[in-house]
Amino acid sequence: MICLVLSGSTIEENLLQVERNRPYIDIVELRVDLLEESELNQAAAFPSLIDLPVILTCRRQSDGGSYQKSERSRLALLSTLLEGSFAYIDLEEDVKKSLAEAQAKEKGITIIRSLHNFETVIADIYHKIAKMAALGDIPKVAVTPRSVNDLITLFRVKEELASVPQKSVLGMGDFGFPSRILYKKMGSMLTYCADKPLAPGQITARMMKELYRADQVDERTHLYALIGNPVLHSFSPQIHNTGFHGIKYNAIYVPIPVDSVRSFFALAEMLKIVGFSVTVPLKQHVLPYLGQITREVKQIGSCNTVVRKRGLFSGINTDYYGFLRPLEHAIETQSIQSALVVGAGGAARAVVWALRNHGVKVTILNRSAQKAQQLANETMASYDSLEHAHRYTEVNLVVQTTSLGMEGEHMGVDPIPSFDFQPSHIVYELVYRPRVTALLKRAQNGGSTLIYGLQMLIGQGMLQFEAFTGYHYPKRLEQQLDLEKE
Ligand code: NAP
Repeated sequence: MICLVLSGSTIEENLLQVERNRPYIDIVELRVDLLEESELNQAAAFPSLIDLPVILTCRRQSDGGSYQKSERSRLALLSTLLEGSFAYIDLEEDVKKSLAEAQAKEKGITIIRSLHNFETVIADIYHKIAKMAALGDIPKVAVTPRSVNDLITLFRVKEELASVPQKSVLGMGDFGFPSRILYKKMGSMLTYCADKPLAPGQITARMMKELYRADQVDERTHLYALIGNPVLHSFSPQIHNTGFHGIKYNAIYVPIPVDSVRSFFALAEMLKIVGFSVTVPLKQHVLPYLGQITREVKQIGSCNTVVRKRGLFSGINTDYYGFLRPLEHAIETQSIQSALVVGAGGAARAVVWALRNHGVKVTILNRSAQKAQQLANETMASYDSLEHAHRYTEVNLVVQTTSLGMEGEHMGVDPIPSFDFQPSHIVYELVYRPRVTALLKRAQNGGSTLIYGLQMLIGQGMLQFEAFTGYHYPKRLEQQLDLEKE
């Protein structure tokens, strides 16, 4: 079940939240600790105003809630509100023999026995859950994983506590994100969403239902991941989950923040992950774990896509081919003979190798001369400093691969201000946020042909999709993706 946590301070606002999210949810949690004092007298009637089961919760500050008065008055409030037709009441694990508990039992309202930990995943988590279940209540544990190993502990709940049919397990924070989406893989009966996410890792009910289809995950669902750190703001789940749905493939793609590649491979075995994308900073770190790599991965020294084939993890680099995609025609017709590549980082390695493997003469300009020299030596290219950019206006292609120009601290910065853009140039920017960088604006004014970072991003995503599924990405969806970002 997808549960919407109602965060409104009034009953009216909560009713609006239910209305906005109604197509995506199965149950709601009324957080009376978030309601204004003057609204409390209407809270008991809330379940009769909507057509969904309601969990009654009044969260203490020590458990991440907002209720500030004494424990005695909190329990008294809950007891009064039980007049209403709530389906569940959430009572914390340390609340013993309260009137609210007795009343709930008498009225047949199911008790969710909850335990929160905002620091860690408690060591005796399986024992705790079993103990809470032994009381006849539904155990709920919300803990904070700090590593992939902690996440493994959570996913083992399903196997360790197979005898507890109804339980709610939740990993909070960034490392907990996969547990929210794959709640069914933990044997959890529900996952919590918000109308406007407030905590890290929280998402909207609409994303949970429409993007991830989390409630449809079953034993046959194929699991794909994006690993790296950070990964939660990536555009890739949009590309792949939309594509899987488009070809009616029972599969889900989930971002997993990873602190240790070794632990991730243990998780991949456990969850039977069949393919994954790799992003910063793990593109090199995954290499020792791969049974097979392509020539490009070997040359570039980094891998961004891994597929499990006959039990073996096989690594490819779709940045390489994604970069080439918008240039296919120009390369085929040999209209690109020479290129200036700005930057010598990870992305530049894919770019320079792709161009060199197609016979293009390359000059690398980079802030750090040592890195430029190293890449130039490996690829038989030449190199120079950023300040000398103006000397290379005879090239056919300029590729910008540094993080300068990107949203944030580098926004508006042009790495080669001395370069004079002309109509003869094709200018390829790898930065995709913002869509038009300071460098692209100048290139546009100079009459150059522009290629946007988003084209490569989507291109490499399409190729990854093909590697994952064996199918081409549906054309109509590709166009939609492009439009969404415009
Ligand atoms: P990276 O390995 O960290 O390399 C960063 C590059 O930027 C290096 O050449 C670095 O120069 C340069 N740089 C950073 N700060 C600088 C500064 N203040 N002044 C001058 N140069 C600076 O990163 P990456 O993985 O190559 O990614 C680079 C960019 O490409 C990012 O914006 C990323 O989002 C984008 N990208 C886009 C796609 C796509 O599909 N469109 C794919 C991959 C990457 P030094 O060597 O001197 O440090």
